[in-house]
Amino acid sequence: MRVILLGAPGAGKGTQAGKIGERLSVPHIATGDLFRAAVSQGTELGKLAKSYMDQGELVPDQVTVRMLLERLSQPDCRKGYILDGFPRTLEQAQALDTALAERGDKVDRTIYLEVSEAELVRRLSGRWICPVCQTPYHEVTNPPRTPRRCDKEGAALYQRDDDKPETVKTRLAVYFQQTVPLIQHYARQGLLRRVNGEKEIQQVEREMVTSLR
Ligand code: ADP
Ligand code: ADP
Repeated sequence: MRVILLGAPGAGKGTQAGKIGERLSVPHIATGDLFRAAVSQGTELGKLAKSYMDQGELVPDQVTVRMLLERLSQPDCRKGYILDGFPRTLEQAQALDTALAERGDKVDRTIYLEVSEAELVRRLSGRWICPVCQTPYHEVTNPPRTPRRCDKEGAALYQRDDDKPETVKTRLAVYFQQTVPLIQHYARQGLLRRVNGEKEIQQVEREMVTSLR
């Protein structure tokens, strides 16, 4: 099953994609995680991506699409995948549609996680991430069992530089301008399901499972 998770920064895409990916036994593919891995490896792609990520802007479509399609060509994606953070522009969505159509495939479902702007800001300001497995925690709504340590890896959690308030403002503006039009794109194809992302994590997961049936 090929699933796209749409939603603003902080909507809970990473949290839910991890859980749903495990349930469906398909990989969770997050373009943000791929870019952050390239940044920490110091590759050319990483250097380029960092200059955009630090500003809260999108990495150019051409670079992003190439990286994503290369990831989707790996053997673990044959049974499907959950995309988190891709596509983020109409051009990216069209590039994905075209690449899939060339192989006679298509996106099976798009889930749009709806969360109010005030809640997004609260979530991003308290987000802590595991540097090893990328699991997101929240200091109030989803704390780890041991303060600031990952439940699975035991690693010290960190806060993303781009989760600081100035960058969050730009990221949300970019989201409303460039990514929101995708809701219509997938609704027109009859693929869109809306899930209320403001409920607690387990409840959102239950509603997502239902909407994937
Ligand atoms: P969040 O999980 O908060 O929505 P991500 O980890 O998905 O954030 O993305 C972090 C940054 O990585 C973005 O602000 C952007 O600079 C870059 N990025 C991630 N995915 C894409 C994409 N599909 N297109 C362009 N840039 C992207
Ligand atoms: P995204 O990938 O969409 O940017 P994340 O999954 O990283 O979002 O979640 C953003 C923050 O909100 C994290 O700190 C996460 O622990 C927390 N969070 C995720 N889902 C919920 C929820 N349903 N209720 C409260 N907090 C949540």
